[in-house]
Amino acid sequence: MKQKIEALRERLNLLNYKYYVEAKPEVSDFEYDMLLKELQDLEALHPEFDDPNSPTKRVGSDLASGFESVAHRFPMLSLSNTYSLGELGEFVGRIEREVGKTEFVCELKFDGTAISIIYEKGRLTRAVTRGDGSRGDDVTANIRTIRSVPLVLRGEGIPDYVEMRGEVIMPHASFRRLNAERESAGEAPFANPRNAAAGTIKLLNSAEVARRGLDCYLYHMVGDNLPYDNHWDNLCVARSWGLKISDKMVKCHTWKEIEEFITRTDVERAEFPYDTDGAVIKVNDYGTQRRLGSTAKSPRWAVAYKFKAEQALTQLLSVDFQVGRTGAITPVANLNPVQLAGTVVKRASLHNADQIALLDVRVGDMVYVEKGGEIIPKIVGVDVEQRREECVPLEYVTHCPECGSELVRIEGEAKHYCPNSEGCPPQIVGRIIHFISRKAMNIEGIGEETAELLYRSGLVENVADLYALQAVQIASLPRMGVKSAEKILRELEASREVPFSRVLFALGIRFVGETTAKYLASHFRSLDRLMSASEVELAEADEVGEKIALSIRSYFENEKNVAIINRLKEVGLQFAECEQSRLSSLLEGVSVVISGSFERHSRDELKRLIELHGGKNLAAVSGATDYLLAGDKIGPAKLQKATKLGVKIISESDFERMIEDAPRESTENPQEEQTPRKSEKIAVQGELF
Ligand code: NAD
Repeated sequence: MKQKIEALRERLNLLNYKYYVEAKPEVSDFEYDMLLKELQDLEALHPEFDDPNSPTKRVGSDLASGFESVAHRFPMLSLSNTYSLGELGEFVGRIEREVGKTEFVCELKFDGTAISIIYEKGRLTRAVTRGDGSRGDDVTANIRTIRSVPLVLRGEGIPDYVEMRGEVIMPHASFRRLNAERESAGEAPFANPRNAAAGTIKLLNSAEVARRGLDCYLYHMVGDNLPYDNHWDNLCVARSWGLKISDKMVKCHTWKEIEEFITRTDVERAEFPYDTDGAVIKVNDYGTQRRLGSTAKSPRWAVAYKFKAEQALTQLLSVDFQVGRTGAITPVANLNPVQLAGTVVKRASLHNADQIALLDVRVGDMVYVEKGGEIIPKIVGVDVEQRREECVPLEYVTHCPECGSELVRIEGEAKHYCPNSEGCPPQIVGRIIHFISRKAMNIEGIGEETAELLYRSGLVENVADLYALQAVQIASLPRMGVKSAEKILRELEASREVPFSRVLFALGIRFVGETTAKYLASHFRSLDRLMSASEVELAEADEVGEKIALSIRSYFENEKNVAIINRLKEVGLQFAECEQSRLSSLLEGVSVVISGSFERHSRDELKRLIELHGGKNLAAVSGATDYLLAGDKIGPAKLQKATKLGVKIISESDFERMIEDAPRESTENPQEEQTPRKSEKIAVQGELF
């Protein structure tokens, strides 16, 4: 038995690491919770094998490198949980037996990542992740970028020190946008909004965090001097200070009311714009909470009731291997059609070879299908008991199902790739579809089918061929006529005005998604400069790491790509940023050094703003520097030098205030009169604020 207990502990510790640190869970939460319950039951039966480090007794740790870890003044615990209404009823019954009739607060269980936000004298001073419960990672700069988190509280009775605990979540809209961007850049999408939120809050670049659209709900107040002696009233007063408290929480006095809340929430949550994985039931009165106490892992006065994700069981008929634009292979399961959460499901994603091996899923198996935050359902398990003998393990393809080339798998990447980018039809058509898509060149008249037709008919083999098309050629294609041909030609003509960053995105360079293309365009200003940049120079642009730099270099080293680009240049596409006229002369003759990371702007944007106001950017602090624009994590040496030389040190907000009141440069162009304020103008161009 000791061995079994230890094996379970080891497995759960590994699953914790995958879930909290890597944000890449290996099993479903339900499976994890069942394993944990099995361990809890065994430990209860065998107290002789007790271990204070068991995963049943400790909060799963999300501590990561790259952040300063800080001690929590008040421990940050987890919650015990149950999937059974019966067990929840027992929890309520036990509390009432211990303390008599009491009031409960029922809340949504937000599916994100826990955060503690500290306000001192009403100002946000620090935000820390749960970590291991006693220490967490300081992610203040990232939390400050979340619009719903006030930096300053307003109202009556705000304690000098108060910690607001809550959940950072990624709403569905942000999640879909982020995953679409990742996929169009050839990157692996996040499995669900929870992982996306947990991954985002641990990014080292706050400008990127700001862009991803996180939100934060607060559900718990801690401190020595709180306004009220109960949970409900404190949350209500916190709401009046400007903090985001859910309006879905209710007070309950009977088991019937609690049950009603749960049943209602389980139905309504399908319409919520974010994920909820359950309800949390808490004793309201602090005195009663204190009487009930806590274990090292969770309070005894609260419990989470978790909703089980809706699943369907159906047969796996076959597996197709699809080839994407970047050559990535995605295995897709064909299923015996089955009803799931209001729709009929026929196909499901199997992600990659590792996932197939992990699930040991075989053609003919009865499989469990689930809909996560994603629109495409996924296979989450196999009913092995129903497996027939003839079901053999699934062999992953070794050659491209479309062009026959041998597949490759780059070390560290989950997907297999077809390397034949120039001869593999779905990759060629995929590139054309990407080029004409709305966020790229926006040629609406050519849909996916027409792109395929243009390729199959030999009219378009690469994106430059699109601009050589003639009306008669298009009109002669099946289901096309003169009108649709004219529309396409008009749109191609109009695409000559599409700004450089979108043209760059349209080229479909691997890992260069919409955002990276914007960063690159704003850093290098023209394709010629981008093409001649070395890997080191490329990595100087915001958001560009080694992987992206390498991919850009190898794209431009390919002569065929350069030939296509030259043809696109000839037809007049925008291969340089439009030079914007100056916004003011406020910084004329002023030299600025930018250092550190910033909340609301990338460094390139700040540099650009300095130039637009007539200023000059310098790389290093010297006697010639007027200002040091200092962000988070600025090197101490730079600060010291600036102080020694008497250089003025300013923050991002100081800089914003500085340029806010700049008198606008007069302009001859009447259109410019309507130009929005400077910061808005940048926002429209960069969609970064
Ligand atoms: P939890 O998510 O089950 O519950 C506690 C957390 O709920 C709190 O820390 C808080 O972040 C959150 N929460 C949301 N709304 C809340 C509210 N209104 N009031 C209070 N708290 C609220 O516990 P956990 O410790 O964060 O994670 C453990 C769970 O994570 C497991 O039960 C399991 O489901 C999952 N997990 C899964 C894997 C896996 O491999 N799939 C691995 C580890 C953990």
